[in-house]
Amino acid sequence: MREFGYERAFDVAGAVALLGSDPEARFLGGGTNLVDLMKAGVERPALLVDVRELPLDQVDFTPGDGLRIGATVTNSDLAAHPDVRRHYPALTQAVLAGASGQLRNMATVGGNLLQRTRCGYFTDVTKACNKRSPGSGCPAVGGEHHNHAILGASEHCIAIHASDMAVALAAFDAVISYRTADGPGETPITGFYPPVGDTPHIETTLPPGALITGVTLPPAPVAAHSRYRKVRERASYAFAIGSIAAALDVQDGVVRDVRLALGAVASKPWRARAAERALIGGPASAEAFAAAAEAELAAAEALPENGYKVTLMRNLIVAVLTELTEEVSR
Ligand SMILES: Cc1cc2nc3c(=O)[nH]c(=O)nc-3n(C[C@H](O)[C@H](O)[C@H](O)COP(=O)(O)OP(=O)(O)OC[C@H]3O[C@@H](n4cnc5c(N)ncnc54)[C@H](O)[C@@H]3O)c2cc1C
Ligand code: SF4
Repeated sequence: MREFGYERAFDVAGAVALLGSDPEARFLGGGTNLVDLMKAGVERPALLVDVRELPLDQVDFTPGDGLRIGATVTNSDLAAHPDVRRHYPALTQAVLAGASGQLRNMATVGGNLLQRTRCGYFTDVTKACNKRSPGSGCPAVGGEHHNHAILGASEHCIAIHASDMAVALAAFDAVISYRTADGPGETPITGFYPPVGDTPHIETTLPPGALITGVTLPPAPVAAHSRYRKVRERASYAFAIGSIAAALDVQDGVVRDVRLALGAVASKPWRARAAERALIGGPASAEAFAAAAEAELAAAEALPENGYKVTLMRNLIVAVLTELTEEVSR
């Protein structure tokens, strides 16, 4: 048993000050990922700063400003919020597709964004892993990789980001707010998870010691017609092997607006910009959806055991866009 300190923070500035610049200190949200990793010896913090008492537990919506979600809002409260259900249904569906009721009652929005990969080599400290131990190698490339990345990976790491919630946030152009000792800052979610390259251990662009304070979704009327679909190996309580958050606006058979993000395919929630570009202004037809999927997945690089994901994602894109078209055309 390794000893560690525990402090509870009651205001944002205090939380940032308690963590300081200590690389061995960690913020503690619901603890549903961090504590597991501590038990496995992957994380070995000397100090935990509990953020659950911070006044960051509100969800606010206005048509002009969009949705503002505090970092300590639990996954359960986020999914159940009437404005989220009404204006961003894919976000509710994504959150409810993750983990279990008990875990969602504990897990926070900030912690969900920063959850670590479930790659089995990463969580086993007896194995090499470039993400956990830079320069030690990536055994997944030649080993177990059936649920690893097909987009944006590198020879140094092919792990995926496991969050369902973050996929919906990426589709809706989320902006992540944070606070450091130097003051507040923000970054779009598209820039939050950096390219893997040869530095897979650098997982976000957050400055050292930064506390995530919230997430903002700009107004997006198209988001009211949205859906999250998750494919997994068991019916419940399992991480995605592929997922999609999609929103669609169709008028007179023509795609006026579309948002697409893919999950479990990359080290980050993957905003499908190439597919969106292919769809805007064109017909809302199965052929067009298939062509858009091809455009997005042209960059896919599969390994021997994860090539099924290319077909899976193509089918998911076509199926969910077809369903949304039928829904908005009623
Ligand atoms: C059995 C099981 C099944 C799961 N299934 C799914 C699933 O299907 N889909 C899915 O998306 N997720 C799933 N999860 C993951 C779960 O969603 C995450 O564990 C959870 O969202 C993490 O939130 P937390 O508040 O508990 O984070 P914590 O474990 O407290 O923290 C995670 C990380 O975030 C940091 N952190 C926390 N809050 C902040 C903050 N405000 N600012 C800066 N850093 C912060 C911590 O220091 C830590 O590094 C599952 C987890 C388990 C245990
Ligand atoms: S895929 Fe990434 S996390 Fe998994 S073993 Fe390779 S370097 Fe480690």
